[in-house]
Amino acid sequence: MTESFDAIVVGSGPNGLAAAVTLARSGLSVRVYERAALIGGGSSSAELTLPGFLHDICSAVHPLAFESRFFREFALASRVDFAVPDISYAQPLDGGRAGIAYRDLERTREHLGRDGDAYAQLMGPLARHASAVAEFTGSTLVRVPQHPLTVLALGLRALEQGGPLWNARFREEVAPALITGVAAHTILTQPSVAGAAAGLTLAAYGHARGWPIPRGGSQAIADAMVDDLRAHGGEIVTEHEVTSLDELPPARAVLLDVTPDAFVRLAGDRMPSAYRRRMEHFRYGGGVAKVDFALSAPVPWANEEVRRAGTVHVGGTRAEVAQAENDVSAGRLAERPYVLVAQQSLFDPGRAPEGAQTLWTYTHVPAGSAADREEAVTAQIERFAPGFRDTILATHSRSAVEVAEYNPNYPGGDIAAGAPTLSQLIRRPVLSTDPWRTPVRGVYLCSSSVSPGPGVTGLVGWHAALSALRHEFGTRMLPNLSPV
Ligand SMILES: Cc1cc2nc3c(=O)[nH]c(=O)nc-3n(C[C@H](O)[C@H](O)[C@H](O)COP(=O)(O)OP(=O)(O)OC[C@H]3O[C@@H](n4cnc5c(N)ncnc54)[C@H](O)[C@@H]3O)c2cc1C
Repeated sequence: MTESFDAIVVGSGPNGLAAAVTLARSGLSVRVYERAALIGGGSSSAELTLPGFLHDICSAVHPLAFESRFFREFALASRVDFAVPDISYAQPLDGGRAGIAYRDLERTREHLGRDGDAYAQLMGPLARHASAVAEFTGSTLVRVPQHPLTVLALGLRALEQGGPLWNARFREEVAPALITGVAAHTILTQPSVAGAAAGLTLAAYGHARGWPIPRGGSQAIADAMVDDLRAHGGEIVTEHEVTSLDELPPARAVLLDVTPDAFVRLAGDRMPSAYRRRMEHFRYGGGVAKVDFALSAPVPWANEEVRRAGTVHVGGTRAEVAQAENDVSAGRLAERPYVLVAQQSLFDPGRAPEGAQTLWTYTHVPAGSAADREEAVTAQIERFAPGFRDTILATHSRSAVEVAEYNPNYPGGDIAAGAPTLSQLIRRPVLSTDPWRTPVRGVYLCSSSVSPGPGVTGLVGWHAALSALRHEFGTRMLPNLSPV
């Protein structure tokens, strides 16, 4: 007899798992297919360098762990043990100087000297209303915002920090560098309104509830969802790549944690041509090259405070980071790249043998680059942490091509699964109040190529599952996701 399910999910990234949990918690039978042996997609961890050193393969730091509506419903904070560094992120500059984003905005203001007040005026309204920011950015933008004043504050600040007047309120180098360090997460030209909006949003979380790091690695987040799914009857089939919708067992709803171009291939003739054209017009962005380090000691940052930061944005001044990012946008490797660094083992010592450390880094490169960036990343860290090279025990390096081979949701190494430009934040991947539902009957898209976009938030999966519950199962009831 042919097996059948109420719902099938393709892909076990955080969004696929969030969709599966939401559906299983609604009393439906759910099966997840995952092409890899390891469950979790971009929320997974493994010993990449040496035995005893646990590295995050993709995501490391989780600014949305406490602010994502899905994670709040799921009570993630009660299921995973998070460390929340006092310093959310830091931006070292030459000469031992550094911008420090303390969780405490007042302390950040004091540390920024003559620009402290300007910085606090920029960030204060967003940090104080971080949950309202999260509400707005946590769904499709094609809707009436619940907190229009906060949205206005965000919009005006993004226009300022994303345009030619971005330096107007500042007198020194440190505060603008701190802001561009977080805006550059987006892999866009600098300045840009979309980059500034994303950066200000992430910074607001950094000054509200911090940037949490899960003890036990990002895998712990995926594992929490897997445990809940299995406890509610869901099942996961690993090492099974789905190549066509036609090969799936019968199901009333199919939710795809894949990119639009993969969806075109999976759907074949079942996709209407007008929708196919829209999928084919979806644009992917720049890539990343990743380097993980096993270290004999903590990174010897010249600035003492940087030694206590969860995340470090390496690249120097605002102008230097912008130059590096604009090189990447123009299709060139940056000579002095912008590097994202996370020092998880400082806050989660179990990730490395006693006294030793792990270090997670990645840097932006043109899409599809095969360049190994280990030396460029090492040189940039050494610039702000003399002696860093002497602490290196082992490394594991992946080019953008290898990142894409590891996970097809990152085409060309694009970890956002679609360029986060302003137009693609609004039209992600189509302009709709329900972008998760597709015209292929019973099929929903639930990857970060869909609103509200990238990051370990579970939000895309949650929205897609709620849409499927409404349209395929006739229920508008929000399932209870809290721990039993
Ligand atoms: C190097 C790197 C660093 C990052 N850092 C952070 C960070 O610090 N914080 C943060 O919040 N986010 C970070 N991200 C982004 C984050 O990981 C992603 O936005 C998030 O994982 C997206 O979740 P998803 O479920 O949409 O897709 P993914 O996590 O990519 O999962 C998709 C899953 O679907 C599977 N799949 C795809 N096609 C098929 C198929 N045909 N059949 C079966 N299975 C299939 C894939 O194998 C994969 O497991 C990072 C990503 C990378 C790569």
